[in-house]
Order: sequence, then C-alpha cells, then structure tokens
Amino acid sequence: MKKIYILFFILSACGGPKEITSNSIESTVLSYVVQPNLTAEIPSVSVQFETATNEKGEIQLAFTNEGWDEKDLFKSVKNLKISPKANVEFLKKENEIKLKGNPNKKYKVSYEIIQDFKEKVTTENTFRPIINSNYFHVFGKSLFMMPYSNFTDDDPSVEIQILWKSEFGSYDITNSFGTEKTQKFKAKFSEFSSSIFLGGKLNSYEKLWNQNNVVLSTPDTWENVDITRLQNDLYNIVGLQRNFWKENNSETTTVTFIKTFENCPNETNCLNSCGGTGLTNSFATYCSDNFMTTNERLNWLFAHELFHHWVGSTIVNESEEIEYWFSEGFTNYFAYKLLLRSGILSLEDFMAKLNEEVIEPHYNSTLKTKPNGEINAEKFWSDKEWGKLPYRRGLLYAFYLDTKIKQNVDDNRSLDDVMRDILYKTTTNKVEFNRHVFLEVLYGYKLNDYENDYENFIEQGNPIDLTKLNITGIYFETGKVPLMHIQEMEATDKISRFLMR
Ligand SMILES: [Zn+2]
Repeated sequence: MKKIYILFFILSACGGPKEITSNSIESTVLSYVVQPNLTAEIPSVSVQFETATNEKGEIQLAFTNEGWDEKDLFKSVKNLKISPKANVEFLKKENEIKLKGNPNKKYKVSYEIIQDFKEKVTTENTFRPIINSNYFHVFGKSLFMMPYSNFTDDDPSVEIQILWKSEFGSYDITNSFGTEKTQKFKAKFSEFSSSIFLGGKLNSYEKLWNQNNVVLSTPDTWENVDITRLQNDLYNIVGLQRNFWKENNSETTTVTFIKTFENCPNETNCLNSCGGTGLTNSFATYCSDNFMTTNERLNWLFAHELFHHWVGSTIVNESEEIEYWFSEGFTNYFAYKLLLRSGILSLEDFMAKLNEEVIEPHYNSTLKTKPNGEINAEKFWSDKEWGKLPYRRGLLYAFYLDTKIKQNVDDNRSLDDVMRDILYKTTTNKVEFNRHVFLEVLYGYKLNDYENDYENFIEQGNPIDLTKLNITGIYFETGKVPLMHIQEMEATDKISRFLMR
C-alpha cells in the first residue's frame, strides 16, 4: 500500500495581534474592502484599498510571488486597477508590486484574486489561493497587497481594518483575526502575511476556552471524519496545551480544515495526505477524505501544529534546521504526551504510535547515525528520510530525557518544566533558542551526564539505547529495533501515570 504523509510546517513569527477598542479609524489605518464573487463564472475575491505615494511618487506593495515552495503566485492577480492612473511594475523576484505616480498623492488600488489551477485541490496546491464556487481559502500574503510604508520598524504593529462585503449572497468567514464581517486588529507585517482567510458556506464551531476563542471551520462535508468529535477534541487539546504553558489570554485559536482529493481508486492503491501550517494565532490544515483518514491522525496533527504556537513561533530557533531536533522532535513528543494525558489517546495507542511512527523507522533508518550538523534545508525539504530524522531523533531524546528527569529529580518535575523554563528564558531575555539555552536550563535539573548525553544523542547522532531505560512495567526488545511493550497488564495504570506525568 502506498502511503504518503506530508507534514508542512512554516516557521513564522507569530505573536498576538490585539483587538483595537477604539471605533474611530484614522487615516493611518490600513483599510481593505473585500468581496468574494463565488458565483461568478471564474470565482474570485476582490480587494480594494487606498494608499499614498511617497515624495518620489512611488508605492511599494508587498505581495508574494514565490515562497513556501510555490512559484508564480502573481498569476492569481487579475484586473489590477489604480485610480488615478499610475505605472505598475511586477517585481517577481522581490515579491513586490511597484506603482509610480505623482508624489504624495492618494491612490485607490483594486484587484481580484483567482485560483490559478484547474484541477481539484490536492496536497500539491494547498499553498496556492483556493477559490471555487463553494469557498475561498487564501493566505494573507496571497490576498492582501501590503504597502511597505505602513509597516515601519518604529511601529511594527499596524492597525488594520477589513470590511467584508456581501452583495452576491451571504457567506461566512473565518480567519486568523476572527469571524466578524467588520474586523479591526493590530498586526505586524509577518503576522498579517502569515495568516489565513477562509470564507463561503462554512461548518463552523466556536467556543471559549477561558478567554481563548477556539474556532474550527471547514467548507467541506466529510465522510471519514467525525466532525463533532474533532471539534470537541480540538477544544480539549487547546485547553490542555494552554494549561501546560500556563497561558490564558484573549487570543483566538483558529483552525481551517480543507479537503484534498488524492488518487484513491481502491484500498490497495490509495494516496492519503494530511498536513498543516502554523500561522498567526491559527493553523491551516488539509486532509484527504478516504478510508485511511482517521480522527486520531487529525488529533495528532492539531496537537502538533498547536504546540508550534509556542515552540517554533514564540520560542524561535536560532539556526532553523540545526534546532529542528527540538522544534519538531520535542513538539512531536509533547503532541503525543499531551494526547495521552487528555485521554484522547490510550496507553496502548500511545505505545503503538511511538513504535510504528518513531522507533521502528528510526532504528531501521540508514541516516540514524548522521550528525545533527549535517541536517540542512536542502536535505530536509527534498529528501523524505532526512526530513523525518529530526522529528524521530528529537522525540526519542525527549522521551529519554523526560524519563531521566522523572526518575532522578525528587521534586516531581518533568520535561514539562524544562519546556516552561525555556519559554521563560527565551522570552524574558529576548533570545533565540540554541544548544546553550537548552543546556543552561537543563543544568538546573541536576542530571548526571546531561551534557554528554546531549552531545552523544543529538550532536553526534548516536542512537539511544532504550533498553537501558528502566521504566517499571515496560520493556524494550533487544536487537536492532527496541520496540516498547507493556510487561504486566496489571501495571497499566501505573505506566500511564508515569508516562503522562
Ligand atoms: Zn512541526
């Protein structure tokens, strides 16, 4: 059986845009009027805004042509009109549209965004604007032209207003900034471009977890996913992770969920793909809807992507791929650990997942002994086996370390505390995450050989001998692949308590 699993993750600066309480919109506000035309022959979303030229008569608009592995995104821009007339230049390499007119003059810019591919949505085109007669799903950077002059270094957060017009029938919206048809918020350049906008006839779920509004919207009907269960599980996952980080604020957690159409003629020859992208206070997810799709897999995807709100977005890697063992590996470990803690994943499922998804493929991998320093962007993105290496190695190291801390520290601490210490250290000192930050935090846990272990298992890439882990009630197979098993069925409660602590 052919099985494709793709996990997209884009590291994006992802803070919390705050609501503006004032009702008065001043001229410094970047104000867009948006209107979806989904019933048109070529469905589109039209956007309008006003901006002004500088003293040279120029306006520089950020708009992505290439990025996130996509090319030629300018092809989705139609009917660009400038009023009064101005010269327009499409700078493909610079991801910029340049206008030239009279100095210090206001200009009205209007355009339409269309879907530039004909075929049904597959995993290949989820990063392009999706606009059809049912819905639109477009990233901020592919929907909104953003005047650079509004986003200065002195004032990185800009007041943005979006009015959603609906002359051609009613529609719902869900995006990184809420679900209202009149939106006012503050956002940095990176926050506005790394956002998602979904509209159409939506099946939306919205529920407050303390002050945090949890939103899950899909424009599709699903055969192989229990949407009600997915909504409840997402709500629990958000609550659990916010409790974990001890963070309760009025941010929104928005999740969009789009169906992709992979080739699946029969059960022995079926493609299935689920993936997601972490964005500003939100993440966009995609999945095919065939017999291989399960709620369990989606729960894992949601838990993983949500954890990136803190690890990856708030705690930022200093050298990207060099710290993927942490940002991907530890994220993956906590996705599983917190699903176990919530009861969404049973002990048996937790152990089966670790065996199937991590231990077996890692110890069988020819890359398992490659040093961490050899993981780079080119290998990570172009070679599936290299792409999986930091996920698996990092998870196993997190599991090892968590066990050691629980066993060696007599004050009930665990790897959970290490994570919160790292969050505290990186945010209060305003530093990025690297090995030094990590080892400085670990120093406080009084573990024997923690520096050697890190050097050995992460930097040098030597596989961990799991059989030396002494967890009551669990044994590991000896030999090449140390699969994990329950030793005594009577001890399952005790094992669960230990693993989820
Ligand atoms: Zn990830």
